[in-house]
Amino acid sequence: MRGSWQEQFAESPGVLKSSDCAQTMVRILDLEIGGGEFVTMAGPCSVETEFQLMATAHHVRRCGARILRGGAFKPRSSPYSFQGHGVEGLKMLARARKESGLAIVTEVMSECDVSLVAEYADILQIGTRNMENYSLLEAAARSGRPVLLKRGMMATIADLLRSAQLILDNGNPNVILCERGIRTFETATRNTFDVTAIPLLKQVSHLPVIADPSHAAGCRELVPALARIAVAAGADGLLIEVHPHPEKAWSDGDQSLDFADFEGMMDSLDPYIALREAEVKDAPATRSLEAVG
Ligand code: PEP
Ligand code: MN
Repeated sequence: MRGSWQEQFAESPGVLKSSDCAQTMVRILDLEIGGGEFVTMAGPCSVETEFQLMATAHHVRRCGARILRGGAFKPRSSPYSFQGHGVEGLKMLARARKESGLAIVTEVMSECDVSLVAEYADILQIGTRNMENYSLLEAAARSGRPVLLKRGMMATIADLLRSAQLILDNGNPNVILCERGIRTFETATRNTFDVTAIPLLKQVSHLPVIADPSHAAGCRELVPALARIAVAAGADGLLIEVHPHPEKAWSDGDQSLDFADFEGMMDSLDPYIALREAEVKDAPATRSLEAVG
């Protein structure tokens, strides 16, 4: 028989549910991630132009998103692809934040940039390629900003929890875990969406868990279905790529939803979100503690 999850994840005791902590709520502006409200983060893969970012910010807000995403520092598969506008992109994000009232999540790729990005971001995103970059994780943790930790594309759940533990150990309890797909033998999709990770992480860890179906699928046709699956699996939120003209996007256009598709996806989530919110409200404070193992 397999050992308990507590044994499997024993190297990361601080992230596991305990009698002291059944659920972490990460507070950003007037939001609580990990609590009763389901939180959608949406926006373009990269910050490109003022128009692209503002139009997207207003649209995703109208559709119910609470946080605007957009990369100013971009980790690209090719060194010859657009690498992001850097500080100019951060300034555009700051203007979009002011105009739309949305909080900002954006990626930080280097420990040298942590204090700069932390000036502009409400949440620091650690991308899949950096999940085990411990010096970056330490610097991000010490910035005091909440950290959105994306699962490495070749990382196990235990690896993800170890990285989260490192952030906690550096004095930052505000970690959001993100399932964004992993590499498998399947090549029809960009990555394989490991839906099992969502209920598993929700059972064993007190940290909020969100899903990124855009990078998992790599194609926009699958994003709404994977988003509904993520809500049904118990995720606390979503990270979705949206672009006014996906076919002209400077990065990740194939997986970006246009405005109409994003609106349709958000509408289709409503019954699933209502079910989830009813479940969270009815659940005892120490939800699923007994079920661990
Ligand atoms: C992104 O969010 O645009 C991104 C690069 O994500 P990931 O690190 O999951 O590939
Ligand atoms: Mn992207």
